[in-house]
Amino acid sequence: MKIIRYLDQEGKPGYARQTTEDLFLRIEGDIFGDFQVTGESVNPVRILAPLAPRAILAVGLNYRGHAKEIGSPLPKRPLLFMMLPGAVQHPGGPILLPRGLRSDKVDYECELAVVIGRSCKNATRANALDHVLGYTCANDVSARDWQKEWGGGQFCRGKTFDTFCPLGPCLVTRDSMPDPHSLTIRSMVNGEIRQESSTSDLIFDVPTLIEFLSGSTTLEPGTVILTGTPPGVGVARNPPAFLQPGDEVSVEIEGIGRLTNPVREEEV
Ligand code: MG
Repeated sequence: MKIIRYLDQEGKPGYARQTTEDLFLRIEGDIFGDFQVTGESVNPVRILAPLAPRAILAVGLNYRGHAKEIGSPLPKRPLLFMMLPGAVQHPGGPILLPRGLRSDKVDYECELAVVIGRSCKNATRANALDHVLGYTCANDVSARDWQKEWGGGQFCRGKTFDTFCPLGPCLVTRDSMPDPHSLTIRSMVNGEIRQESSTSDLIFDVPTLIEFLSGSTTLEPGTVILTGTPPGVGVARNPPAFLQPGDEVSVEIEGIGRLTNPVREEEV
């Protein structure tokens, strides 16, 4: 099932099941608990990120092809970093190029995002997916200068600027996506394909990530896990191609849809 979060004509948020391109049935209840799809169709005025995450955990260097393009050996364990929930941007909302703490090296990263639906600690590979509500598209927007040069060795400095985590356009529930490891994933800038790969290239698959992350930390419902990005990022291109004001960047994952955001300069 595809679930969207939306604003209605009165500006009230709600959830709906998307049945066709333009038919949305209102959902009653809590998507992290009990909910029902009603027979009432709704008219979304704006599509929102499918959730306001309570935590965002992200894994870097998790596609073989991406490790290769940046000349890095394959990691032995998942490389974890975190983002503030406030970094989330809605579909269609602008990615703001930082002009306060300025960056001129802002990059895109298409990623499969996993949404945790049931609290878990010490999950095993065998039961890990039982805790997943579903999947969505993410863009792990990255200020490479702050990530690599000026972040003191920590990824989070360059990754957690406001608007740097677009999510959407919908959440596809786990039952509709029994195998998240065979999906075509791509990014586009102004319609030009920059990254195109398959989630089969993941080094650490989704159950392994959930086992690893829940080994240290209780993953509560509403936690989002970004699973890493395939090759083709702007910083690895020759010459490097960073996002510019006026660009439009899309992330597309087979079975989920396309998440598109314009790029603008932050006003300071
Ligand atoms: Mg990433």
